[in-house]
Amino acid sequence: MRTFLILTVMATGINLLINLPAIASEPGKLPAQMQLTRIAADKWRADYSFSEAISRFSMPAAGDYRSTAWKPLTTGVHYQAEPSAQPDQPIDSYILAQPARQLSFEITSYNGFAQKNYSPNNRYSNGGAGIYMGFFDGDVQEGGKTRGMNLTVSYQGLPGETVIPPPSFSDAERSLRAYAYFGPQKPVLAGAAKLVLDPATPEWLARLILDTTSTMSAYFSSNYQRPLLRELVLMISVTDTSSPGFSMKGGATNGQITFRLSGKAMLNEHPAIRHLVQKLVAHEMAHIWQENVSQGGIGDEPAWIHEGGAEAMAIEALKNTGIWTAEEAVTYQTNASATCKKITSQSDPYHYAYACGLQKFMALNVDIPLLWRSLISETGQSGQPYSEAMLVSVSQRLRNNPSVSK
Ligand SMILES: [Zn+2]
Repeated sequence: MRTFLILTVMATGINLLINLPAIASEPGKLPAQMQLTRIAADKWRADYSFSEAISRFSMPAAGDYRSTAWKPLTTGVHYQAEPSAQPDQPIDSYILAQPARQLSFEITSYNGFAQKNYSPNNRYSNGGAGIYMGFFDGDVQEGGKTRGMNLTVSYQGLPGETVIPPPSFSDAERSLRAYAYFGPQKPVLAGAAKLVLDPATPEWLARLILDTTSTMSAYFSSNYQRPLLRELVLMISVTDTSSPGFSMKGGATNGQITFRLSGKAMLNEHPAIRHLVQKLVAHEMAHIWQENVSQGGIGDEPAWIHEGGAEAMAIEALKNTGIWTAEEAVTYQTNASATCKKITSQSDPYHYAYACGLQKFMALNVDIPLLWRSLISETGQSGQPYSEAMLVSVSQRLRNNPSVSK
């Protein structure tokens, strides 16, 4: 008997925030506040308040999210899609007829997402929702000058519902690169993590995600010799159990992992799905440890460093905890190697980061936990983000003196 499965994984990179071109650092960031209020089951209101009057508000586009789901409530404001210096990154702009300090939008539930970007709205079967807050940040224009914002956000749910704001950081912008949860569920504790698990998650899959999460977090805590600096929240939403196949879109941001599941194949336990879920949980967890620093971490370095690094950390952890057999780990690496041979960083930058990144880490011939322990320590102490130069110097040092671990 043959089983047909469509498996797709779209792991959102955490380096996807694209800066708008030509942001002058001269005028400094404009302090701004926003309140995000859920006003109905499928509607939110975003009320911005800027410390000075602005004439334009611009954000990197996220597919058709804003053109379809955002409606300006402030009179005299019109939406305009604009090209940017990066051809594949248009800009969404809101132009004010008169400069003003207040700007409000109504935002409707949205199911779509742009490829390789965060999904704006992860909807839960019981009415809960995860809203990606990075899409609320942007640049403003006042008196012909473009400035970034220093945006702080407050959250208000429907009466009686749970609101979990994104993890907080001293850098307000960093706090926004995560989801806010609105909904009826009270989070449950699983080891070190807080969980919001969609009640529609099939039982076998819920158990698999919980078990893999707790095994991986225990393994990373002990092998990377660093307890988590901030609470970890896992949000698992089930978009549908009716479309063909199975799709799992996962993302890790500081202190938070989100999984968005869809497809009817998840209703029955299947080894290919089990394998995929285990790898994705381990991979996202690896990102959490890569970012488990008070300064430095993932910056604008080539994606293969953090993606290939997370792949290497994940495979090593799955193998050493016995979740995967040694054979499964080898098969995974062999497949990645075959994929890497067929592509270049230009022809397929997305798969290049994962498959060729994993290859590059394997080729370094250094114990992976030792290497990443040193990299995490290096970035945290120097405040410099991970880079190819850091990787080269740290791996060289370890090869010369493998018994020394920083
Ligand atoms: Zn990743």
